Amino acid sequence: MPTPPSVRLAATAHEPAIDLPAIGQGTWYLGEGLAPRKDEVHALQHGLALGLTLIDTAEMYGDGGAEEVVGEALKGRRDEAFLVSKVYPWNAGRDSAIAACEASLKRLRTDHLDLYLLHWPGNIPLEETLEAFERLREAGKIRRFGVSNFDVDEMASLQSLPDGDACAVNQVLYHLGSRGIEHSLLPWQRKQGIPTMAYCPLAQAGSLRRDLLTHPEVTDIAAALGITPAQLLLAWAIRPVAANGGDTRRDVIAIPKATGLDHVEQNAAALAVELDEASLARLDATFPAPSRKTALDIV
Ligand code: NDP
Repeated sequence: MPTPPSVRLAATAHEPAIDLPAIGQGTWYLGEGLAPRKDEVHALQHGLALGLTLIDTAEMYGDGGAEEVVGEALKGRRDEAFLVSKVYPWNAGRDSAIAACEASLKRLRTDHLDLYLLHWPGNIPLEETLEAFERLREAGKIRRFGVSNFDVDEMASLQSLPDGDACAVNQVLYHLGSRGIEHSLLPWQRKQGIPTMAYCPLAQAGSLRRDLLTHPEVTDIAAALGITPAQLLLAWAIRPVAANGGDTRRDVIAIPKATGLDHVEQNAAALAVELDEASLARLDATFPAPSRKTALDIV
């Protein structure tokens, strides 16, 4: 069987490099009673079994409820997942971040996170947050840290701080209808070797381009390729880029949320979809990347 496409997190002073599947599982709106809890748990476990081993959650989602669902899904199989959670900016202080992480670990029924993200930039000095992340790492409670919703100037400020260059990822909104990061943030991260986690890859949350899955150009190209519109959007988000020596590599991980088992299966199968140049060109023509810097889209 061919190896599924993966994205490498670089080795740090404390952790070896790790290859992660280019598609993971989001958890926003889990644990809020929108679907039966057992279905949410089962969907995550089904995704895990199909190779969607990266699970993204946050203390924010369902006010801790999503972490509890993830904890239930990972009972007895924690080692199968690469677990990501996020701290609210106002909880990201020297001591408050430690307390927030410990509360997340309790809800998740685990003793460590593989990756802990600052959910968005806030008022607490980043130095303090970095200090807390380092203390959590030393205590074995997190393996790596990263950020979310950071634009290029914020990434540059982070990078200039002691240990700021150990930032593993930046998680930002990225889908076919929102390509603003391609102007400067994505190239900057590529230069620094910092992978991107693409949230809302299906553009379903909020009011941002909810029409993408039914857009005629998307449905037409997907039908011609024998895939679903969602698979087209996911394969597009994780498409490889040119690397040195004529090779290609991937550095975007998409984290769709899916509770429908058919959705989970489609999303896992999207790992095997490679888009051809002609399809990519058609998508570029209908959904061009902006030619100037735009504000970072956030939901
Ligand atoms: P998505 O773009 O992942 O869309 C999720 C929706 O798409 C759900 O309604 C789901 O339905 C549906 N869906 C999933 N798979 C398919 C499919 N194959 N075909 C058709 N529909 C499908 O939006 P999210 O907002 O959930 O973003 C993904 C994740 O990103 C979040 O869950 C969260 O983990 C993270 N996130 C991070 C943010 C940040 O600030 N860092 C902000 C927002 C999101 P169903 O569930 O019924 O299967």
